[in-house]
Amino acid sequence: MSLYADVILPLPVSGMFTYQVGDGEKSRVMPGMRVTVQFGRRKIYTALIRRLHDVKPATYQVKGILSLLDEEPVVNERQFLLWEWISEYYLCTLGEVFKAALPSGLKLESETRVMAVEVTGENPELNDAETLLWEVITKHPGIRVSELQKGSQRADITPILKSLMDRNLIVLEEKITQRRRSKKIKPVKNPEPEDLKMAFLSPAQQKAIDEIRSSFAHTDVALLHGITSSGKTEIYIHLIQEAVQQGKQVLYLLPEIALTAQIITRLRSAFGQEVAVYHSRFTDRERVETWKKLLQPDAHEGISIILGARSAVFLPFREAGLVIIDEEHENTYKQFNPAPRYHARDTAIMLARFHGAKVLLGTATPSLESYSNCLNGKYSLIELTDRYRDMQLPDIHVVNTRELRRKKRMQSHFSPLLLDHITEALKNKEQIILFQNRRGFSLFLECAQCGEIPRCRHCDVSLTYHKMSNRLTCHYCGYGIPVPKACPACGSPEIKMQGFGTEKIEEEIAIFFPEARVARMDLDSTRKRQSFEKLIASFEMQESDILVGTQMVSKGLDFDHVKLVGIVNADTMLNYPDFRAHERSFQLMAQVAGRAGRKTNRGIVIIQTSDDKNPVIRQVVENNFTGMYNSQLEERKRFQYPPFCRLIEITLKHRDKEILDKAADFLARRLKQLITDTILGPEYPLVSRIQNLNLKTLLVKIGKGRSLPLVKKGILFAITELTEHPMFRTVIPVIDVDPC
Ligand code: ADP
Ligand code: ZN
Ligand code: ZN
Repeated sequence: MSLYADVILPLPVSGMFTYQVGDGEKSRVMPGMRVTVQFGRRKIYTALIRRLHDVKPATYQVKGILSLLDEEPVVNERQFLLWEWISEYYLCTLGEVFKAALPSGLKLESETRVMAVEVTGENPELNDAETLLWEVITKHPGIRVSELQKGSQRADITPILKSLMDRNLIVLEEKITQRRRSKKIKPVKNPEPEDLKMAFLSPAQQKAIDEIRSSFAHTDVALLHGITSSGKTEIYIHLIQEAVQQGKQVLYLLPEIALTAQIITRLRSAFGQEVAVYHSRFTDRERVETWKKLLQPDAHEGISIILGARSAVFLPFREAGLVIIDEEHENTYKQFNPAPRYHARDTAIMLARFHGAKVLLGTATPSLESYSNCLNGKYSLIELTDRYRDMQLPDIHVVNTRELRRKKRMQSHFSPLLLDHITEALKNKEQIILFQNRRGFSLFLECAQCGEIPRCRHCDVSLTYHKMSNRLTCHYCGYGIPVPKACPACGSPEIKMQGFGTEKIEEEIAIFFPEARVARMDLDSTRKRQSFEKLIASFEMQESDILVGTQMVSKGLDFDHVKLVGIVNADTMLNYPDFRAHERSFQLMAQVAGRAGRKTNRGIVIIQTSDDKNPVIRQVVENNFTGMYNSQLEERKRFQYPPFCRLIEITLKHRDKEILDKAADFLARRLKQLITDTILGPEYPLVSRIQNLNLKTLLVKIGKGRSLPLVKKGILFAITELTEHPMFRTVIPVIDVDPC
């Protein structure tokens, strides 16, 4: 009898494809194993077997599987269930989930295969670097990436290839040269039990943990609302230990940026080598290793605790007993690009459901969604209202910069109060964090004569000044030019810097306090894999006095000697045009403030704003989460936003504005005919052109009580009609469910 396999291909095509299993492989093949198959005329892919059966497909000529790559499944049944949920909920294909889920090492077996590049687009708009590469690719179709790299002047051509790929100008094709067996991984020896240590819980922590335990008897999800430095991590550690003792695995999720050496060390000192860390800053080899260790059936050879960022939800857990999601309010849990655009918190809750595991969400500033899930009884709520060792919350002062500017008392970006407190802290050998929300849109050039602002050639944004490289660069696509000596529009040499960002603050603070040692932490200063860790370690060891940073400095860092936190300008976040701006500002300010005075004496926070009567500022000063929650919930209800409805955002992209406009109108019209829900737009987003593609968005608001699957079906139907319409074939649709 013939045997067939339904496989998932790593492509944005919907559904699965059926291939015949060869006689030699029949006895060895199992769902969850990888195979290579031919798809399309010449392309070969690594695919994944979802199902085996004996039903020959009626509609097409079945091809055979080329080779079987595994001896054991690399993906288990519960993972498949989760993938299927993601694909249905976030409206993407299983292939897209497959691509995101497996570390590339498992998708490609990188030593055994080389990538070839093939040209698919015509007459594209390219920048200089792209043109160079592009010419070689056109002349040598099917050239290996390694050869391209060798012939190039650049250190790394991957970003350029990626950008070409994103614009569908080239495809990377996997060519199979030979098959190699995957290596067995040596088990790691666990440290002796007496090396491991765990703290005793305080009475308040003990009470909280008891409440969490008993809540799990009636709800699967609990939210631990504990103020900054209340000792949540210590509670997690105790719960993890209980789960591990019962032979269960634990997933501990953190936002990428909060996954630091600090927390790894804390967990390793309690659990030793049972802890594995998983996030995108790790090499692919390390990630494949973790994946394979988790697959080992014997618990003693495997690992029981995964400390990971977003993508750790895709790991092959055998039997998860507990899922911890720290800083659950963080919007970086949402994957933005490419698909699957999943929310790791919500996905982890589903993962737990497939395992029958319990979920603990933790944060000092709950998201409105999770908090309201507590109030309506879906989740349990546990409050921890005191700091560990009864340290007081910091003393928060608000400075009205508008008033001070009028009186000419501001010194550049600093108020006298902030400068005084910095002086005082430096004198006492205490540390300071200065928070500046912006990296992007921060420092740009403006012509004093004609008002010209140099902008990106490919995107609708101004270019940002970078001092280190003395260049203007685009934060969306990476396009850059040297700083011009004169205005490109009118030729005037009077072209001046405007706005301010972290680099500028760093520079100015050095002028005010020449003796202070200043460090800066933002995306630019931490691009390299180790530099982020180094910066934190060095600040921790008091090798610098002042740390200037973006939101990166707010993420759960636990420094002992920070006395003062200055929020240099709160206005930018308050004025952000988004229904979550108020909630976000509160979270951000409360979190940044929480870095002050954690260990020794009471911290001081200074918030500089031109809008000191703003209710958010007052709520932060009073540490009034409930006030913030109630006022925001009221607004969300009035204007119908989550948690009172669900949102699906559809973005259409096209080079040609006219086609885009017509496509957006077409889609809006069809949607209005197909579904009864509120549709906002189409409208141009804040940044309405990125990498030469114009953008237009539609927002669907789905009221409570509506059938989500039904609405989604309508949306997919309308989008299919759009992309099959002869005029709109080249329009790129992007669907974002629960946009953040
Ligand atoms: P949170 O996660 O709520 O911000 P942490 O768990 O980081 O708080 O705790 C704040 C500080 O207090 C940390 O330095 C931690 O080591 C210390 N701490 C918390 N609980 C205990 C405990 N039970 N015993 C000893 N130290 C503790
Ligand atoms: Zn750009
Ligand atoms: Zn000019």
